[in-house]
Amino acid sequence: SKTLRLILGDQLNIQHSWFEKTNPDMTYVMMEIKQETGYVRHHIQKVVGFFLAMRNFANSLQNQGHQVAYLNLDHPDNTQSLTGNLSFLIEKENFNRFEYLLPDEYRLDRQLADFCKSLSIPSRHFDSEHFLTSREFLTEFFKGKKTFLMETFYREMRKKYDVLMDGKEPLTGKWNYDQDNRNKFRDPLLLIAPKVFPKNASEIVGVIHTMEVETIGSIDEKNFEWPVTREESLQVLDYFCEKLLDSFGEYQDSIYTGDAFLFHSRLSFSLNTKMLSPLEVVEKVEQYWFANQDRINIAQVEGFIRQIIGWREYMRGVYWAKMPEYATLNFFGHERKLPEFYWTGKTKMNCMRHSIGQSLEKSYAHHIQRLMVTGNFALLAGIDPDEVDRWYLGIYIDAIEWVEITNTRGMSQFADGGIVGTKPYVSSANYIDKMSDYCKGCHYDKNLKTGENACPFNSLYWHFYNRNEDKLAKNPRIGMAYKTWEKMKDKSKILEQAEKYLENLDRL
Ligand code: FAD
Ligand code: SF4
Repeated sequence: SKTLRLILGDQLNIQHSWFEKTNPDMTYVMMEIKQETGYVRHHIQKVVGFFLAMRNFANSLQNQGHQVAYLNLDHPDNTQSLTGNLSFLIEKENFNRFEYLLPDEYRLDRQLADFCKSLSIPSRHFDSEHFLTSREFLTEFFKGKKTFLMETFYREMRKKYDVLMDGKEPLTGKWNYDQDNRNKFRDPLLLIAPKVFPKNASEIVGVIHTMEVETIGSIDEKNFEWPVTREESLQVLDYFCEKLLDSFGEYQDSIYTGDAFLFHSRLSFSLNTKMLSPLEVVEKVEQYWFANQDRINIAQVEGFIRQIIGWREYMRGVYWAKMPEYATLNFFGHERKLPEFYWTGKTKMNCMRHSIGQSLEKSYAHHIQRLMVTGNFALLAGIDPDEVDRWYLGIYIDAIEWVEITNTRGMSQFADGGIVGTKPYVSSANYIDKMSDYCKGCHYDKNLKTGENACPFNSLYWHFYNRNEDKLAKNPRIGMAYKTWEKMKDKSKILEQAEKYLENLDRL
């Protein structure tokens, strides 16, 4: 029967079994819609990246002989809503079946399920054939347990997929090399340029502006650099193995103002759009290491693989275990508005100015910038997690709710009260100075807690612990902090300093 099959913008998996054979009765529909450009204000590079990748994917399908209906953002028939366009097409072309791939986002999952209920023709959904686990796997795996320990989940994944394993034991005798991976980057001679694919994106940028899509951040529209095809994504993966993997773990937590990417892979966009599969990434890295063990040590490789089969897969499991409630959690009851400088980068705090400025410029920041600079500040300053989520969901090219919200509301803001993390990730200037070159160029003094130029992170850190004592003091991983606080002499002065900063966040 004449079937309409929907492919969403983050379902660009050319290896899906749907595409094994061509069939004249099947039409694949893809659409650029304001519903998706408008649920949050996205970075311009994110919108461009998605549209370019979608268009390339539609071309690949057509080249393989599949029939594709592609609705450009400015197509006259575009209703700008997912279900509006589907209804229109089904009626116009007399489709008598509708099929879709399970979305990764709760919002779209509901929308499509409701839509199918309203249809008078039969419908069916399929797995996206991307993840290593089903939506329900994590819930079942931790059944009866109070907490979802990532490390336990990760080891299970290593065994299940036989990655870096020797039978039931880890190949090198150890599961985790985190301890080896905490170096600060210092030597600019070691820097390696990222693999980029400069292309002209002016046409799409023009359409985005004409259609009045509101975006954030900037773009060099003649030189758009992100990978937007499977072939380019595979090249980024090869480049990572050959040039970056040998230092990945070592400098994973390091921040350096001279380079946004350091030894990070820049694969999140390719993975989250499904141009690459997590298993192929991990297998490629594992095999590359096997062949190059003389040059690359296990700590680098294990550190990378844990991010993909551990954290990434785990976050997806938490998302499906806890949505929709997860999006409402606010453990600390934080209510402050996000300071204006998150949208402009205009602040005297060097770490924030740089991390935000870079995010606005590149639609990218690596994990520690997200967690220990911008996220850390938002948590210390008591920003409403809804506001924090909205920022992270918009600004990064890899931001899709299932992985954004679990990282932001969970890992970074501890708004879930400890589902994802065992304690809040907060720090004073001390940690930022240890891992970056930010503090030496800063208006504020990293060593001061009080006084005119005292680093805001220092007093806000103690203010955070002090105001949340009833919620945190019992946590065995935090006890030490309260003991230190207890002994500190100038408590009231520190709190006063923090209050002053909190009243004037926009002036920092
Ligand atoms: P690399 O450092 O090279 O890591 C390799 C891959 O591992 C990444 O591509 C990613 O797929 C995976 N990975 C690494 N860390 C995580 C993690 N914590 N959770 C899930 N996968 C991970 N990642 C997103 O993909 N989308 C987001 O919207 C997102 N929002 C975040 C928000 C906050 C507050 C924080 C602290 C982290 C967030 N992350 C998010 C996780 C991580 O920061 C990015 O995946 C990473 O920076 C992407 O850059 P990369 O590809 O160079 O990563
Ligand atoms: Fe950031 Fe404080 Fe260091 Fe300045 S001194 S860069 S505000 S941590």
